[in-house]
Amino acid sequence: MTALTLALSKGRILEESLPMLARIGLDPAGDIDRLLRVPSRTPGVSLLIIRPTDVPTYVEYGAADLGIVGKDVLMEHGSTGLYEPLDLDIAKCRLSVAAQKDAPKRDPRRRLRVATKYPEITRRHFADKGEQVEIIKLYGSMELAPLVGLADVIVDLVATGGTLRANGLIETEVICQVSSRLVVNKASLKTKHAEIAALLDQIRRAGQTLK
Ligand code: ATP
Ligand code: MG
Repeated sequence: MTALTLALSKGRILEESLPMLARIGLDPAGDIDRLLRVPSRTPGVSLLIIRPTDVPTYVEYGAADLGIVGKDVLMEHGSTGLYEPLDLDIAKCRLSVAAQKDAPKRDPRRRLRVATKYPEITRRHFADKGEQVEIIKLYGSMELAPLVGLADVIVDLVATGGTLRANGLIETEVICQVSSRLVVNKASLKTKHAEIAALLDQIRRAGQTLK
């Protein structure tokens, strides 16, 4: 059998992927808290346990044939080198703009300052509305930025809105809905077509939806 490598997004996406992977025999046969590469329970299929933001890169370069990653990460990365055949319908949330509930008034001559982990999506979103903004790239805890005057608004993932509320922020605009996707390296899809088609089929039959 041709070997396949599947890159998994460490963290909440991995947690939410495990039941589906177990149903099709692709759950890890090793310690995923320590190992970066583990065999799955299916011979010939190995798993990479990596940071979500690195998954598109591994798949694009063919270091992994397939990957599971959030739509947010895909949109930010740009997915030209990848096929995205399946919406796995897990790790669902949305990407939104949020502002302080009682925001101090901004001088309209100054550009809106937006703090985010997603500079590309943010730039595109505001450019589509004809608005040039100043983007401040952060790597986490975006909610803090408006509270300390680092930014006027944030662009961040929202699930329940609980974290926003706890920090006195309100969602002002939804940019897009987010769920996790299966992505496939374009060359692998040709050279390992039968194996990948079979795997896609199994995932679909495991109760997932076709995009
Ligand atoms: P990294 O270490 O690369 O910064 P991370 O800490 O953001 O990753 P997680 O928070 O475990 O990693 O997972 C983030 C992914 O989970 C997002 O890309 C998104 O697709 C998905 N997700 C689903 N719901 C949420 C949520 N409420 N908050 C954050 N991410 C969510
Ligand atoms: Mg996180």
